[in-house]
Amino acid sequence: MSLEDIRNRIRKAEENAGRASGSVTLIAVSKQQPDERVAAVLEAGHRCFGENRVQEAAGKWPDFRERFQDIDLHLIGPLQTNKARQAFDLFQSIHSVDRPKLAKTIARLAQEEGSCPELFIQVNTGEEDQKAGVLPADADDFINDCKGMDLPVRGLMCIPPVEEEPSLHFALLAKIAKRNGLNGLSMGMSGDFEAAIALGATHVRVGSAIFGARN
Ligand SMILES: *Cc1c(COP(=O)(O)O)cnc(C)c1O
Repeated sequence: MSLEDIRNRIRKAEENAGRASGSVTLIAVSKQQPDERVAAVLEAGHRCFGENRVQEAAGKWPDFRERFQDIDLHLIGPLQTNKARQAFDLFQSIHSVDRPKLAKTIARLAQEEGSCPELFIQVNTGEEDQKAGVLPADADDFINDCKGMDLPVRGLMCIPPVEEEPSLHFALLAKIAKRNGLNGLSMGMSGDFEAAIALGATHVRVGSAIFGARN
């Protein structure tokens, strides 16, 4: 288990970028990991985790929450509107807000419940057909619509195309965030989180580098 390694590398990347120590949140991505590996990271004191499926998260996190206090759970995968209510119950943050229908559903639930997870708007920086996210050209309008619905937009999220230089995508996401007055940036995974931190990531989503290969 290399949680400590990753923490050290994050600290170093913050320092190299001239950023305050602790300014980057490490989301340990526990999807498809055996429960004992997740428990080991919890035992080590880590509390911030990411899951990409509502169903999978619902199957394991209620039990972990009974054993460990103050778990901070982030949904980093696509969200269907019919699972939004369940997501409200499970997650403190949702990183995959990517279309008006979902934004409207979240706004309605926030009204009903009197609270709302922190939100990140996913941007499809690589304009890939198979990938979720609002297109860069549509991002400003969508961000404004979300703000207009009083949604708690913390920032933006992206998943760069696998075969491209991720830094170009991180820089584009940072640029869109800046011109919209947002300072949350959810970007960087096991292979590229240091590059993401250099370009302003506030939340890195690291799975296999902490837990090992997935099932
Ligand atoms: C799985 C996943 C990650 C973590 O990927 P690793 O390469 O294992 O660090 C990060 N972000 C999203 C959206 C994911 O689905």
